[in-house]
Amino acid sequence: MKKTCRAAVLKGVRDMEIQEFPIPKISEDDALLKVEMVGVCGTDTHMYQGSGSNVWPLIMGHEFVGTIEEIGAVKAQISGCKKGDRVVVESRFGCGVCEPCIRGKYNQCVHKLGYGFMVSCDTPPHLWGAYSEYVYLPKRAILHKISKDVPLKAAVLTCAVLGDSVRWLGHIGGVSLGDTVVILGAGQQGLGGIVAAKEAGAKTVIITGRNKDKERFKMAEKLGADHIINIEKEDEAAAVKRITDGEMADIAFDCSGSTAAMAKSTELVKKGGVIVTPGMYGGKKTPIDFDTVVFNEIQIRGAHTHNLASVKAAIDIINSRKYPLEELVTHVYGLSQAELAVQAAGYEIEGEFPIKVAIDPSK
Ligand SMILES: [Zn+2]
Ligand SMILES: [Zn+2]
Repeated sequence: MKKTCRAAVLKGVRDMEIQEFPIPKISEDDALLKVEMVGVCGTDTHMYQGSGSNVWPLIMGHEFVGTIEEIGAVKAQISGCKKGDRVVVESRFGCGVCEPCIRGKYNQCVHKLGYGFMVSCDTPPHLWGAYSEYVYLPKRAILHKISKDVPLKAAVLTCAVLGDSVRWLGHIGGVSLGDTVVILGAGQQGLGGIVAAKEAGAKTVIITGRNKDKERFKMAEKLGADHIINIEKEDEAAAVKRITDGEMADIAFDCSGSTAAMAKSTELVKKGGVIVTPGMYGGKKTPIDFDTVVFNEIQIRGAHTHNLASVKAAIDIINSRKYPLEELVTHVYGLSQAELAVQAAGYEIEGEFPIKVAIDPSK
């Protein structure tokens, strides 16, 4: 077996390079993953552009699928996985001993343990991100087997895109049979949200976007959106009113990243409605009409990342092949083009409007 592997390292703002790292020795408690595909997240573009975490030097990449190259006996027993299995890995694994971890909220671990933005590649054994040929899987890394019949482009969306949406809309938003859900923003998370809302039983799913989202609107339709609103042509509140005969939505889901959209969400839900936001607003404050929140007893719920239950549900959806989720991945780059991939995901490449960018480190 090879002694070293290649990874793309973010050294500072807009500064990436390919570096070689030693491939770690695996003991009975841990494992090594050969990365087959890794998604480029909006968070990655923020870090590259300098508005996110600054744990440098860093191997980015927290949305990934791969095959187990090596696994210790204890880790194999805990995870139920063996060498050669294809798995997806949750982005956070937590320390296991802090209060949030003990309460099962390892996504809120105070020690911030996870892939792609929390642990620098200066920390041995270095491979803490999936813009790399291999990723290190410590004892606490949470693995889920996924069928090899599923296209890699769909498998790569399991945890971060679909696992997130299932948790945000289903488990946190409480979408249930017959609900009307309005999704603000037609990016990967909004599109994943259509699937999560439909699977949770929503009767009507409305999604908003802009002129530039033409391709995304086509995808939204394929995934089952009932109504698509171009907010550059029709005001979203007026549209939701028209579609629901004045009843408005049960749940609004803001994944637009726009403070203006989030501010508008209080106009979109009915009395007692719920607003869920996983939105990252780049440090900007959102002006919310709290009088409406109070009088209408609206609940605003923050949502961040996936967990065991939501990933398990996402795997069932992905394995069912009911939705053409692989079509969301419109651009795939090789590892040596990782920087280009991040730029493409940040719409920095003229004429390119990817829905989801991924990297295949074998290329
Ligand atoms: Zn992500
Ligand atoms: Zn912890």
